[in-house]
Amino acid sequence: MDPNKLNHANQPEQGKLIRTRPRTADARPQTRPRTEGWTQLTGPDGRPTLQFASPRVKQPPVHLADLTLEEREAKVVELGLPKFRAKQLSKHYFEHHTTDPGQMTDLPKDRRDELIAEFFPPLLTEVKRLVTDDGATIKFLWRLFDGALVESVLMRYPGRITLCVSSQCGCGMNCPFCATGQAGLTRNMSSAEILAQVVEANRVIAEGGLGRMREEGNGAEAERVNNIVFMGMGEPLANYKRVMNAVRRMVAPSPEGLGMSARGITVSTVGLAPAIRKLADEEIPVTFALSLHAPDDELRDELIPVNSRWKVDEILDAARAYFDRTGRRVSIEYALIKDMNDHGWRADLLAEKLNARGRGWVHVNPIPLNPTPGSVWTRSEPAVTREFVDRLNAAGIPTTLRDTRGKEIDGACGQLVATEQDRRDAEAFAAAG
Ligand code: SAH
Repeated sequence: MDPNKLNHANQPEQGKLIRTRPRTADARPQTRPRTEGWTQLTGPDGRPTLQFASPRVKQPPVHLADLTLEEREAKVVELGLPKFRAKQLSKHYFEHHTTDPGQMTDLPKDRRDELIAEFFPPLLTEVKRLVTDDGATIKFLWRLFDGALVESVLMRYPGRITLCVSSQCGCGMNCPFCATGQAGLTRNMSSAEILAQVVEANRVIAEGGLGRMREEGNGAEAERVNNIVFMGMGEPLANYKRVMNAVRRMVAPSPEGLGMSARGITVSTVGLAPAIRKLADEEIPVTFALSLHAPDDELRDELIPVNSRWKVDEILDAARAYFDRTGRRVSIEYALIKDMNDHGWRADLLAEKLNARGRGWVHVNPIPLNPTPGSVWTRSEPAVTREFVDRLNAAGIPTTLRDTRGKEIDGACGQLVATEQDRRDAEAFAAAG
């Protein structure tokens, strides 16, 4: 779109300090992003460091879930076994969430252990499980093969079960309000490590670990994860290839994959414009979410360091193009932060920028900020939150206030991080064998 067509009257001018009251008589102060209690890594230019590439470290061993069905078949044949063994192994993993030789009675007994060692190297070891909401929310802490720690959060809602998955160990995007970025990026997760979070969650559900179970039988299917949100640790589009292979396997019918609906999968990004455009070309209609958090570049430059590369207008254009290619309505994520990004004029500017790109293509999901260390990071007052939502709705932008689950167990958006305590627990766990 032509940015000149936008009315920039209420947008602060380039290069100036953020203005407090561009249009309304609303005299609320402007708090600026800053870190407290930790120091944001910065480069020689003084700007927050961005890590797009994963450090070159040892990769996890190849696992069945890293391979397409064809590749699994080729490997089985290489081992001197008929092709159909690949389907059997795949079924055990994706349908019955098991890697236990005792349960694979359809495989030749003398080759079972070898097949399992070949296809199912252990990827995730559960270190800790925190449960809240009367058992309806579980946060898992996983230890990976190299000792790296990641988390996923499993949530039961009426009629659906959602898993929030991690895509990287740590994150290189360095957003000052998000706990995950504080230690930088350790490495990309493999496709199989990403998928294993779902398989493990399905196993826990099948074992009755997520509260009440629906009766199986009488035509009712066993319960399992039916929504996946890439809102755990990491920036999924910075680990593009592995994330997309994981997504392909999530939607592939069994025995190739999990047979999930693409609509039930949400890929959330901080705004890597070229990768958003690539995602639109994949022809996998996943739900696309953009973590915008500010409609003006002046604030977004400080709030989301990667905004120095791809500006608000460019990522909104990419988001609109995603809708054009897929027909899937885009979600805009907006964490409401007291006196920082919650001013009425920002709601108006956001509505204006979205409406300038057409109608019916987008909705906005504001969520009150979840506390991370640091006192400038406070959630907006309820009245301010309401006004922000009302202004967007009044401008014709469908807007629904969301709240996140699991705050009491530090399992909510932006709170996933391996703490010192987690590290100690993981070490004690590993030492105990
Ligand atoms: N890197 C991806 C996905 C991970 S974070 C992304 O940025 O979209 C998932 C969502 O949680 C993002 O919208 C992110 O901006 C938001 N988030 C991060 N910290 C938060 C916090 N303290 N409170 C509320 N939301 C937060």
